[in-house]
Amino acid sequence: MEENNNVTKSKNFIYELIDKDIESNRWDGKTICTRFPPEPNGYLHIGHAKSICLNYGIARDFMGRFNLRFDDTNPSKEEQEYVDSIIEDVRWLGGDFEDRVFFGSDYFEKMYGWALELIKKGKAYVDDQTADEIRQTRGTLTEPGKESPYRNRSVEENLNLFERMRNGEFANGTKTLRAKIDMTSPNINLRDPIMYRIVHEVHHRQGNKWCIYPTYDWAHGLEDSIEGITHSICTLEFENHRPLYDWFLDELGIHHPQQIEFARLNLNYTVMSKRKLLQLVKENYVDGWDDPRMPTVCGIRRRGYTPQAIQNFAEIIGVAKRDALTDIALLEYAIRDDLNKHAQRAMAVLRPLKVVITNYPDTVEELDAINNPEDTAMGSREIPFGKEILIEQTDFMENPPKGYHRLIPGGEVRLRYAYIIKCEEVIKNDKGEVVELRCTFDPETKSGSGTSTKKVKGTIHWVSAKHAVGAEVRLYDRLFTVENPGAEENWLDLINKNSLEIISSALIEPFLKNSKPGERYQFERHGYFCVDTKYTTNEKLVFNRTVTLKDGWAKK
Ligand code: ATP
Ligand code: MG
Repeated sequence: MEENNNVTKSKNFIYELIDKDIESNRWDGKTICTRFPPEPNGYLHIGHAKSICLNYGIARDFMGRFNLRFDDTNPSKEEQEYVDSIIEDVRWLGGDFEDRVFFGSDYFEKMYGWALELIKKGKAYVDDQTADEIRQTRGTLTEPGKESPYRNRSVEENLNLFERMRNGEFANGTKTLRAKIDMTSPNINLRDPIMYRIVHEVHHRQGNKWCIYPTYDWAHGLEDSIEGITHSICTLEFENHRPLYDWFLDELGIHHPQQIEFARLNLNYTVMSKRKLLQLVKENYVDGWDDPRMPTVCGIRRRGYTPQAIQNFAEIIGVAKRDALTDIALLEYAIRDDLNKHAQRAMAVLRPLKVVITNYPDTVEELDAINNPEDTAMGSREIPFGKEILIEQTDFMENPPKGYHRLIPGGEVRLRYAYIIKCEEVIKNDKGEVVELRCTFDPETKSGSGTSTKKVKGTIHWVSAKHAVGAEVRLYDRLFTVENPGAEENWLDLINKNSLEIISSALIEPFLKNSKPGERYQFERHGYFCVDTKYTTNEKLVFNRTVTLKDGWAKK
């Protein structure tokens, strides 16, 4: 890791800004501190993952601190289930917050004190208007807002009313606390924004302790300030809120973090809004938050993604100042690249076709297979070979097109790690479907040790009929049929009906029999697969295809 004061790898504009802050000693030697501040109202998605990698990466690279803080200011949508899943996901992604898990709601008392301070300064007032009335008098981009008739209440009256709001004397929606800024400001966020609402609801952490809740705009900057955050990194939609956060912090004269905005991640062929993801789950379009087709962190984890691949993806896409749609192929590239280096290879036949090698003796031979050509340290394994094997149905064609190098009647092909075989006879059922091939093998062509110089164009994978293990294999496709479903009114109609294909009777190499949920393999020629953590049992192995070996979509 680089030294603190001279982080040389200026990766993006945020790093450059922090470098400058350090050069000018803006923070007076204070540790660089970032945070990830989710609202616990849903599961994390790949966009959040980008923010985690960015914020954690900065803390790591500048020898700083990274906090996880729940922005739990809205009791009606927040749940412990979400808190737990978020903690698990951030940890899994490698966002190391050590023991620093904080909750905005734990700062409510402090925030309340600061609200009293603003009231005493004449900078906040209790408004009796309804939320609707407040909205209607806010004005527009071209017209100034109207001052509330309650705006000039005395400090004493405001203190009294605000205390009674806290004590639960008023019903939901009957009063708010507003900052007294400027109803004519060109920035609508500065037109006396609401600081507190009355919400008589049970909070997932505070229980019944509070019935007034701070708005995000009031709470967020204070939470950052309390934690000594130096760089408060958020998405672009908060750029116009920055002057408001600045106003609050300056009026209170407390630690003032630097807010920096960047473009949120949008991926094509999926949706990323929490509301839409929730709908997909609640209305059973997918099999839960961790459905491997979901862009959620738990979904892509179950699909077989590694934290390293997601970190690499975040590096590749970088940070920008303008919104764009990122190609999901980049995410797939990142996982392929990682798994290529680390995944154990294996052979699996998804749609089996029986092959009998008529001149092979009735014995079993163990053949040597390389575990990972990218990593010799992973060694090799033995694969049983015998008279009866299974190959992929698509690796045989009776009437092949030009350029088909696999098995054809009378043709030859190499069996991976084994011999060259020749198709002598094709056996069909009553319906005319090919059900078996009779082949002969050439003993001189054994992989690695054969004396024959014979060469064939095609190599196919196989498993031994006697030894193969059954498994269910799940193949995934894009969840949506269009690039930007979120932009469409009828986005639910645009779900790809063929996004999940379940193959219930695949046959896999015997050593895979004992593979554990979460383990990752490359099935040669089929892609990378991960043992499913949800449906795998002692009796049944289920594999999810994480990604194909090549970007098949690019060529379509
Ligand atoms: P909402 O606020 O609408 O519920 P959100 O996606 O902003 O949804 P938060 O829990 O507020 O959810 O997000 C936590 C952090 O993640 C925020 O700092 C936000 O900037 C960041 N974030 C959210 N979505 C993305 C995204 N698509 N790309 C990058 N960062 C994101
Ligand atoms: Mg948000």
